Amino acid sequence: MKQLPGETIRLLSSSQVITSVVSVVKELIENSLDASATNIDVKLDDYGFSKIEVRDNGSGIKVEDVPVMAMKHYTSKISSSEDLERLTTYGFRGEALGSICSISEVLVTTKTAADDISTQYALNSNGHVTSKKPSHLGQGTTVTVLNLFKNLPVRKQFYSTSRKCKEELKKVQDLLTAYGIIKPDLRVTLIHNKYLLQKRCEEWRDSCHGTLLLTACPIGFRSTFFSIQFRQYCSL
Ligand code: ADP
Ligand code: MG
Repeated sequence: MKQLPGETIRLLSSSQVITSVVSVVKELIENSLDASATNIDVKLDDYGFSKIEVRDNGSGIKVEDVPVMAMKHYTSKISSSEDLERLTTYGFRGEALGSICSISEVLVTTKTAADDISTQYALNSNGHVTSKKPSHLGQGTTVTVLNLFKNLPVRKQFYSTSRKCKEELKKVQDLLTAYGIIKPDLRVTLIHNKYLLQKRCEEWRDSCHGTLLLTACPIGFRSTFFSIQFRQYCSL
């Protein structure tokens, strides 16, 4: 028996945390919600396998936290196991960003209220910042995930059929719908290959007519799911 190299252990454990496009989107959205975002825009290219981008208008990441933001088991949300008794956040394990870095290429653009401008950071597979440059984005954080599973062909192969890819996209839509339902003040959009798939305006709770359901998509994703969910919600 031999001990696995550290790099392999990291890759394997990351692939347990991040298993699919929808798990990346879920982790990034939850980070946005933990940062008190009220607006979240999700963009996918090629079902998320080429690019996943989640942009929020939350609190941003402090400059002093940037070097450790994608280090595994670094978190701003708890300090010890006792804090688990009174959790108020979705995240607390400090694993998501680090795991995503292990299996893709990651850029984080962020600006807090105290920063003059936003900065885009490139991260390597260990979660270390390798470069930075100024950016024009406003307050909040944008995480861009490129080439998901580039070093895990087994995972990628699972999504080699168009049916699997479409199912994955539907899961992302369902996830956003679920957050929309439990967070009535959240504005959220989903764009796939530049087509708007889902959007919800702020007033949907008060005005059924105000809700917009999307559906502009040339490739057969005319989903009624969102409207069905919305009608159910309105009739509660
Ligand atoms: P966790 O959410 O469990 O703390 P993550 O790896 O998801 O771990 O994120 C690490 C840290 O990076 C978070 O604790 C938070 O401080 C910061 N962070 C990540 N995403 C965002 C975001 N969208 N807005 C503000 N801070 C963020
Ligand atoms: Mg998190």
